[in-house]
Amino acid sequence: MMENPPKAPYNDIMNDSDLRDDSPLFCARCRVDLARGTGNFYVVRIEAIADPSPPRFSEEDLNRDPRAEIERLIEQMRDLSERELVDQVYRRLVLHLCGPCYRQWIEDPVK
Ligand SMILES: [Zn+2]
Repeated sequence: MMENPPKAPYNDIMNDSDLRDDSPLFCARCRVDLARGTGNFYVVRIEAIADPSPPRFSEEDLNRDPRAEIERLIEQMRDLSERELVDQVYRRLVLHLCGPCYRQWIEDPVK
């Protein structure tokens, strides 16, 4: 009986829809044009998720009136669109960087 060969992670990366698109690519830092298939740029994916751990409540929180607290939160969110609310907890960005920019960036991504 033949087993399916394990799927190579490399192929997963290359099949990604970020690269299948035919729109022009440019470096997110220096704006140089990037050509697909030349191996001279990097795809950088950034996923930011708001602290996923369960909230901690203090004694003070528990002594607050929950109804007033809910009203306060609803008031706080009133002017935000659904998109803005989602953006507050989750963002996913895809950047393309040319070789030189990538090599500078990866050494200190939080700069
Ligand atoms: Zn660049």
